[in-house]
Amino acid sequence: MTVPDPHASAARAPLTRRALREAREGEHGVSATAAAITAAGTGTDSAAATIAPDVGGTGERVPATTVPLPTLTADMARPADVHRPADAAAPHPPIFKAPPPPLPPAPLVPLLSDESAPRHARKAKPLARLALVAASLVLAVATTSGALAVLNPASDQHTDQHATGSADITASTLGANAPDDASSRTSSTSTADVPTQIPTPPPAPVTAAVDLCDKPAFTAALTAHDDAAAIAAAGGGADFRQAVVGGQAPCVPMDDPTRLWIVVDKQRPLQPLQYAPTPRAVPDGVRSLDGAGLRTDAAAALTRMVAAARTAGAGQIAMNSGYRSYKTQHGNYYRQVEVRGTKDADLVSARPGFSEHQTGLATDVVACDPHCGTLDQLAATAQGRWIVAHAWQYGWIVRYEQGQTPETGYLPEPWHLRYIGVDLAEAYHDGGFHSLEQFMGLPAAPGY
Ligand SMILES: [Zn+2]
Repeated sequence: MTVPDPHASAARAPLTRRALREAREGEHGVSATAAAITAAGTGTDSAAATIAPDVGGTGERVPATTVPLPTLTADMARPADVHRPADAAAPHPPIFKAPPPPLPPAPLVPLLSDESAPRHARKAKPLARLALVAASLVLAVATTSGALAVLNPASDQHTDQHATGSADITASTLGANAPDDASSRTSSTSTADVPTQIPTPPPAPVTAAVDLCDKPAFTAALTAHDDAAAIAAAGGGADFRQAVVGGQAPCVPMDDPTRLWIVVDKQRPLQPLQYAPTPRAVPDGVRSLDGAGLRTDAAAALTRMVAAARTAGAGQIAMNSGYRSYKTQHGNYYRQVEVRGTKDADLVSARPGFSEHQTGLATDVVACDPHCGTLDQLAATAQGRWIVAHAWQYGWIVRYEQGQTPETGYLPEPWHLRYIGVDLAEAYHDGGFHSLEQFMGLPAAPGY
């Protein structure tokens, strides 16, 4: 303790003389001090509560300039100055003490810069480094917020898988699309380039937002209604999905019921409500118990899937139901309402205009060996297990899984398959998704 002694001896003498001078000048100053003490001691609870923390806590932080009277009282009532232990044992005269030195500024800026800058970065001026950090953060948020909003609800496993997937997607996209996207990337990163004096370039690859709609091959495929070609032009199912949920594909018609990526749920009715897909067909080589067909591309995909299951020794799979019109679904739903009531009916049956079956891209399947079982029996069969493991390879996903009712609004239906095409189904499977809502970055649809 080398500091306190000289301070103590140097400060005590002038303060003592000051106290004596004030005593000689009359009672005004003393009265004011006494009034302050009285106010502190006999005031309302709120006044006492305001003062007490300053006294017992950090005496140095008492704001003498903002609250004069309590500040004076606090200093005077304090038994000892923590910075001057030599005074602690001495009698404490009723005098004013010099205000303590101001606290040094909190080192927020250096801390933020150090955490954000690369380890090897040269020491930059704090303000310039702060500008770099802020610009990078803004761009990172703008380009990844959509993806994060989707990834967060997923399980830890999903998040891990997507974290890796996103990096791969970004890298591949940058490499593949550098010429086409040079202009958009330049404009999107111009903000980060403002602090041109900074020697360390902003390297974050996520700042290179790629707008699929700037790619002629992609827009041409969209215009031609060739969804598979569009997804391929996007770099595959995972890249397509990443662009859509990241807001980098605003030209993709998400409400078009003719598209492979259409999501129909309790929040997303068909548009128009009485939409009917064309052309339709009964899948070759597949039993259709009610004679219903599917949209032709889905029908061909179901033919391939059923043949593969048979070849793999899983047994025969038959269609229990396929395309349903608005009118058919109207009848189905209200029969369920009569039996179960509206609340329970809504857990097992879609209202007309809200059914995936109306897209022609959904089918309910059963296992036949040789007689066909019920929908409820499918999951326990070899066919049901094969579907869980392999349906995605043929473009189909199990749409309503166990545990996803808060997302989908329906009880589990292991038999209800939805065709989204091989590319998207692969991305869905590899990404570990369990609902189409999550996959396409859409809100959960637990109810109407
Ligand atoms: Zn179904």
